[in-house]
Amino acid sequence: MEKAYAEWIPDEYGYAHCSECGYEHDSPEYVTQYCPGCGACMEQED
Ligand SMILES: [Zn+2]
Repeated sequence: MEKAYAEWIPDEYGYAHCSECGYEHDSPEYVTQYCPGCGACMEQED
């Protein structure tokens, strides 16, 4: 089973959406390393 990767897509209000399943965080600009909705690993650059 391949590991799923996704990324957080901010909408016009600053809420992050999972690019895989569309999960939306309750707080603006709040992101996690793994999507709570589908479990995809978020690739982050910092
Ligand atoms: Zn997801």
